[in-house]
Amino acid sequence: MTEATPWAHDFARKHKLTLRFETPLPGKVPAYKYEDGDLMVVVLDSSLPDERQHFSLAHEAAHLILGHTGDVSPQEEQEANFLASELLLPDPPFSDFAYENLRGLKDAFPQASFEALARRRQQFIPSVLTIMDDGLITRRLTSDEFSAPFQITPHERHTLQECLHTGEDQDETGDGIRLHATYVDEGRGVVRVLLIVEES
Ligand SMILES: [Zn+2]
Repeated sequence: MTEATPWAHDFARKHKLTLRFETPLPGKVPAYKYEDGDLMVVVLDSSLPDERQHFSLAHEAAHLILGHTGDVSPQEEQEANFLASELLLPDPPFSDFAYENLRGLKDAFPQASFEALARRRQQFIPSVLTIMDDGLITRRLTSDEFSAPFQITPHERHTLQECLHTGEDQDETGDGIRLHATYVDEGRGVVRVLLIVEES
């Protein structure tokens, strides 16, 4: 986006931030902020997808709320990401929708990416999330309360492949678990499949 989406506009106003858009940003960061007189300005990389910009905006707001100044530590970055997820997808109402699959969540919260939705969902529903980009597994994230094998299981791999090859979401239940895979092709040159495994 080169001007604020309605979500970004509302968020910025609520957090008293002024938005500017540029690309590329120095150091190839997704966003940065600076004070300009009385204004706190957040600069977003306009070449990034809207959902990425929204998360970056929430991340910068999180640093301000947490009082992080100067060079931030990796620990502070993690804290900012955690709070950014809550700011992007506040609860309420998020937990009212958490049992929906990712498709339903995306309809309810279009401001967030499928990945951000899946990760926030894990805070309410213990699960293991596996993300595959163009056929390669790029992330495997397990909720604290869920025990899952470190390695992907053959059943999970099969469901991921089925989703990738058919281009259709998959939903399977058996042996006390549910697997659901979501197919995402947003025309950015990468086909992504997100697989969630949870108790059924
Ligand atoms: Zn940061």
